[in-house]
Amino acid sequence: EELAWTAAKSIEAHLVAGKTNIALVAQDRLAARRARALLSRFGPGLRIRDETGWKLSTTRAAASLNSWLELIRSPKEGPSASALLEFLQNPFFDLAHTLHKPSEACVSLVAQLEDILIASQAKSGWETFRIAIERANAYSSSRGTVPHESLLELLTLLQRHHAQWLELKLDCENAYALLQSNLQSMGMAQELEKDSAGKQLLEVLKTFDLGAGAYRQISMRLPEWLSLLKTIIEEASYQEVGQQAEATLSILPLSSTRLREFDAVVLVGCDEQQLPAFSEPPLFFSDTLNRLLKASTLTAQYIQQARDLSQLLISCPQVDLLWQSKSKSGEPLRPSAWISRLRTQLLDWPILEAKPDTYSSLSDPLQEAVTTVNPDIALPISMSPSAYKALRDCPYRYYVRSILGLRKAKEFEEGFDASLAGQVLHALLKNFFQALKTEEQKPHSSIHQGEDARREWMREHLTKYSEKEFERLIKGDARVTGTLRDWQKQIPSFVEWQLQREAEGWQYHDAELPVGFMVSLTDPDGVQREIEIAGRADRFDINTNNSTTAAVIDYKNQGINKIKKRADHLLDDPQLLIYARAVNENAIAAHLPGRNIEQAEWVSLKADLKKADDKIVRSYLVEQMPEMMVQFSEQLSDDLEVLWARKPMKAFAPDSVCQYCEARGICRKGMW
Ligand code: SF4
Repeated sequence: EELAWTAAKSIEAHLVAGKTNIALVAQDRLAARRARALLSRFGPGLRIRDETGWKLSTTRAAASLNSWLELIRSPKEGPSASALLEFLQNPFFDLAHTLHKPSEACVSLVAQLEDILIASQAKSGWETFRIAIERANAYSSSRGTVPHESLLELLTLLQRHHAQWLELKLDCENAYALLQSNLQSMGMAQELEKDSAGKQLLEVLKTFDLGAGAYRQISMRLPEWLSLLKTIIEEASYQEVGQQAEATLSILPLSSTRLREFDAVVLVGCDEQQLPAFSEPPLFFSDTLNRLLKASTLTAQYIQQARDLSQLLISCPQVDLLWQSKSKSGEPLRPSAWISRLRTQLLDWPILEAKPDTYSSLSDPLQEAVTTVNPDIALPISMSPSAYKALRDCPYRYYVRSILGLRKAKEFEEGFDASLAGQVLHALLKNFFQALKTEEQKPHSSIHQGEDARREWMREHLTKYSEKEFERLIKGDARVTGTLRDWQKQIPSFVEWQLQREAEGWQYHDAELPVGFMVSLTDPDGVQREIEIAGRADRFDINTNNSTTAAVIDYKNQGINKIKKRADHLLDDPQLLIYARAVNENAIAAHLPGRNIEQAEWVSLKADLKKADDKIVRSYLVEQMPEMMVQFSEQLSDDLEVLWARKPMKAFAPDSVCQYCEARGICRKGMW
């Protein structure tokens, strides 16, 4: 980095001195590349010609084409989400042209797609993407916002293109024609035409048009054709287009300075390891063999470089020789032996030490992270159970997430996302129990013919609903099959638990129901506030033996031991108590008129099946429910009052919470 900065500064000094034709000899390629990046900050006034070789495949245009090639080579289920997004985000893809829509209608469409795919962790497969978009659309419609209809259209279109490639009986002629038609219909050909690298890429593609020659009928498989195409692009080099500028900088190897004139030359990498440089003889061509064959030997290379350097020193009025005094491993590095020899002759030739600019100031390390909410920032007037849990876990975390609304930019995680499996399980259980409710209304259903028949019906239908709900996910990502199989093993024991529950008088009533209640408080300014605490309850049951009793259930896609730990900290994660209070305060809104929640429990969807059937523990009850409800309500009012009083919010949580906290980069735990 320091060498690159020194090179850039020395070129800058030449420019300031009015020199217009400068060369940067890239003896150290890495430093030269970095210097080039630094010099590009000079803008269009300095024209940079890189003669050290720049492959066409490293340009953005080639990467864009490559993103399309990657997409069409994906399996028939569809590409990965990252391959899809990489293609859609390439600057040469014209979304408006593809969808035949005005460009205003396409603004931020791809960003929305990215958000949807990441939020639902839809990692691969056309079907998975479609499910994710449909879910997002349903959610938008239910909230009164605009659904993303064009996204489905876009997906269908790309899938059709992909299918065309898979169905094509490929030969050199029709593959070329199809690729060109793809580029045209997606507006890429037109956009590439406007770009200098894009134009050259299109020219290279034309050389691949074998339609007129003898190879037109040669058939091959798609991967072979694609790798042939990629090889051709890989071999092409990119020629930078000339443009008028006040000064020109040529980046070149030492050998290219022969017979050329420059106002000034900067040579980077003049240390003992890089000057002279030599290339390893290829394969078995040892130096001796080369000498016998009269090919280029090491000695010949050295002699040639010495000549090049001396002619450069003689012909150019100013040459800066730059090197580093330390190697990559920190070992001292001497200048090239040639420089040392020159210095024995030129005694007053100075070596200047380049010093990087340094700035010093006093740091003021953080002692702890604590904040007071600015009076201009509005506090949220509704709170979900998870937001309340965040407030209990760590007030600072709540401040970052819910008050400032900051979220970590999500990414696709490795492996199948468990939260997606959780959502599917919730959905299929709801569908199953609704079907059970309907079945119970039918007087001649087998379900009324005793417990065994009921058990049989439940097992059969729960399996059926599970397969149906998982089917689309599996189409998109076959790895989900494992999750389905794990769940299917749980079904018999889950049905037993349900039958047992029914024997105790509990009957399924409703699921996935939004419920909530209001908390009133007076803030320090004397203003009366109404805060809504609301969430979506997994399931409500009613008791057939008691017309005033109901129960709330929360499904957990985790083992019973984790659930027990959760129960130990019930007041810090009072999701069930929130739902219970919501029903008790407004039973009609929760479709439970005249009933009170008197039982709350967690139900594991991942019970330990290794145990004997009668030892499997599937549910865990909230103990001392009435006392807990009182304590929870008092605690909630206190917490909300502290929050609305805008008292200092401290970052404080056990490591188990901090480990997964997104706000860690802001509270900087570990630094204090
Ligand atoms: S890292 Fe820990 S202390 Fe910091 S905000 Fe998150 S939970 Fe709080």
